[in-house]
Amino acid sequence: MADASVTIIGGGVVGLAIAAEISGKHSPVFLLERRPKYGTETSSRNSEVIHAGIYYQHGSLKAILCLEGNRLLYELCEKHQIPHRRISKVITATRNSELEELERLYRLGSGNGVELKMLTAHEILELEPNIVTAGGMLSPSTGIISAHALMDFYYHTAKDRGAEIQTHCNVVGIERKNGCYELTIEEGGQRSSFTSERVVNAAGLEADTIAGLAGIDVDAAHYRLHWCKGCYFALPNSLSKCVSHLVYPVPTKHSLGVHAVVDLGGRLKFGPDVEYLSARTMDYAVDESKRHAFAESVRRILPHVRDEDLTPDMSGLRPKLQAEGDPQKDFIIREESDRGLPGFIDLIGIESPGLTASPAIAKMVEKMLA
Ligand SMILES: Cc1cc2nc3c(=O)[nH]c(=O)nc-3n(C[C@H](O)[C@H](O)[C@H](O)COP(=O)(O)OP(=O)(O)OC[C@H]3O[C@@H](n4cnc5c(N)ncnc54)[C@H](O)[C@@H]3O)c2cc1C
Repeated sequence: MADASVTIIGGGVVGLAIAAEISGKHSPVFLLERRPKYGTETSSRNSEVIHAGIYYQHGSLKAILCLEGNRLLYELCEKHQIPHRRISKVITATRNSELEELERLYRLGSGNGVELKMLTAHEILELEPNIVTAGGMLSPSTGIISAHALMDFYYHTAKDRGAEIQTHCNVVGIERKNGCYELTIEEGGQRSSFTSERVVNAAGLEADTIAGLAGIDVDAAHYRLHWCKGCYFALPNSLSKCVSHLVYPVPTKHSLGVHAVVDLGGRLKFGPDVEYLSARTMDYAVDESKRHAFAESVRRILPHVRDEDLTPDMSGLRPKLQAEGDPQKDFIIREESDRGLPGFIDLIGIESPGLTASPAIAKMVEKMLA
């Protein structure tokens, strides 16, 4: 008999959501996290927006799981007092030439089942008097959440249901042996191994590395991840009341565009930008020299913001399946029996809206394990 029924690699919001969902239904469940604490990588370096599901191709996992995740997250937040706010989002066309794209977005989002309302410039200005607009759209189901509180909730739920959560535990080897998986782990410089019937790879930025350790040809499977940094700049508290919703521009082909993000504490920041990294470095520094380019993007929406109003804030790293310039790719959530790895589930390219989708991803993985 194997030591574990299911081992989850990665203690970000997705691994924790899965641990909370499956513990009690499978036993024992192990969750292994290499850092001293869970949720310190991408899951704590994002906009903390509960997305509505507007931007994703109809029928894609991103669209389906975002919509379901949005509904499930609000339910969880209300039932368990997880700090959140249904703040709504305004998408503004800053010039007439963007109105056609805005309408395309409206059709895409509505087709995905998202509640959306097209608004005239006058109606937008009633909601947000300080922004530039030629017309826009309101998304009432977009909100904000404390990602840390959500992860704490998943963590305690998983623990209460019997999951064993191990931090400081780096997975360095995976081998299929005698009908189960032998995992080699490194803890405090010591190597040891144990066996698990099934494995869930929720390793975020390193999900392709973990798939490779299990013997998958990462390039042939199109699992290679590209790290893409997103930085934020903040406005001082004296200016943070200049918007009262999340305010986004009409997106470009590669990004949602630098947008105004309000957090639960009332701080206002702008971001994230898009910077593909040529090497895998966990460098979260925000380069001050980006200030002017940032201010230019911000002024598209809020013309009164000056360069000197912006201060470098935080950054995060996206695990993107698409290389720079390529079209958007969907999440990969896949059981790998046909690659000779039964009961091995890969989650690759879980970029935005992964936080929103986390409870829906967990339910999907639970079905795959059942
Ligand atoms: C700038 C930015 C803004 C975003 N904004 C939003 C947003 O507003 N709304 C939204 O829904 N989503 C957003 N996202 C996306 C969201 O943050 C991610 O989809 C989500 O956090 C992914 O969670 P995860 O658990 O898959 O990954 P992670 O949080 O990266 O967790 C993976 C974990 O695996 C661990 N790990 C890796 N390798 C190993 C190993 N060998 N052994 C053990 N452990 C290992 C890591 O240490 C890490 O803790 C944003 C992302 C970014 C970068």
